[in-house]
Amino acid sequence: VAKKSVDLIIEKADELATPYGGSSKPLVGTQMQRLRVIRDAAVAIKAGRIVAVGKSSVLRSRFSAARTVDAHGKTLVPGFVDPHTHLVFAGSREDEFEMRLRGADYMEIHSEGGGILRTVRETRRAGEAELVKNCLKTLDVMLKYGTTTVEAKSGYGLTVADEMKCLRAIQQAGKAHLVDVVPTFLGAHAVPPEYRQPEDYVKLVINEMIPSVARLKLAEFCDVFCEKGVFTVDQSKLILGVGRRDGLRPKLHADELTPLGGAELAAEAEAVSAEHLLFASDKGLQMMAERGVIAVLLPTASFALMIDRYAEARRMIELGVPVALGTDFNPACWVENMQLAMALACRQLKMTPAEALNASTINAAHALNRAHEVGSLEVGKKADVVILDAPNHNFLGYRFGGNLVSGVVKEGKLVEASQAT
Ligand SMILES: [Zn+2]
Repeated sequence: VAKKSVDLIIEKADELATPYGGSSKPLVGTQMQRLRVIRDAAVAIKAGRIVAVGKSSVLRSRFSAARTVDAHGKTLVPGFVDPHTHLVFAGSREDEFEMRLRGADYMEIHSEGGGILRTVRETRRAGEAELVKNCLKTLDVMLKYGTTTVEAKSGYGLTVADEMKCLRAIQQAGKAHLVDVVPTFLGAHAVPPEYRQPEDYVKLVINEMIPSVARLKLAEFCDVFCEKGVFTVDQSKLILGVGRRDGLRPKLHADELTPLGGAELAAEAEAVSAEHLLFASDKGLQMMAERGVIAVLLPTASFALMIDRYAEARRMIELGVPVALGTDFNPACWVENMQLAMALACRQLKMTPAEALNASTINAAHALNRAHEVGSLEVGKKADVVILDAPNHNFLGYRFGGNLVSGVVKEGKLVEASQAT
């Protein structure tokens, strides 16, 4: 029998570890612990898609490849999906970091015009080209750390023109870069200082911003920072409802710093996901489990903000809430590395490496409505493969602080990572 020709075979991997099922529905409960593991594994790739996954010997007998990568000593896992980032902004806030170390708290800095509002001023001043450049630089780093699909929220413009500028920058960066970028409109990230009445800004979001975003097809999701001193539950509900009317699927920053009923709202609004959830009530989590709302947990955000509290992932998994992990990349949590999110998830959320991997791949893909395309190493999906310089996937939680990635294949294209370990 003639061998079929393919573009690329990655072979002789010590291990291949990928979500076991989960492409049609997010993994919950004990499913999150399961992985499909193959020793001496290979992946065959053609035209940017996976055409076979299995034992090296079997794939070598079936396919002849234009290019072969020897992955001896390595582990193959799906490209990581980062479902929560504030990708587009200008400037930095390292001075506020120092203030926090001296004892100032996050909302204190926020109420003094720092925090988000500081970044809003700098982002408004920045041109679109500068913002695109910033995004591309970040995407380069993310890709080296193994992220092949990333969500990108607006939310540092807070005028109609500046929010559209940010979303266009996200769109341009996504077109120019190998990493897939999924845009989310987060006009309701903060009430800008020129609005004395939050209700007036909410009106701008629902009457002008959302219709513009929808008309220009600049986002797939609509998110709100539902938090004490930012947007109330009622305002959040209104905004998500209008977003849904205009075709933007709801997401919610919920119960991050205070218990506000964000998890309950996310369930009632049938949000795709609720994020952070440090103070989510048990009732809210049960409602999320019933509606299949994905909990996007961001342990790097707790770590960055030094708030000594982490989401109750074990309780969520026990209740049947699908759990995903993300970085929350933003100027107050400047981290591009999903491996660090996984290492913290293991240590602080007491998730196992297998759960952390499922949460960072297939469940994260569901949070972005991309599980049919990415998030697992399965025939027909995009050939997004991370080559880890490790003998098995448990190294993902175990070894941390560096970069375990020795190579990334994005839609069949091999990107060599710097040997950073
Ligand atoms: Zn966020």
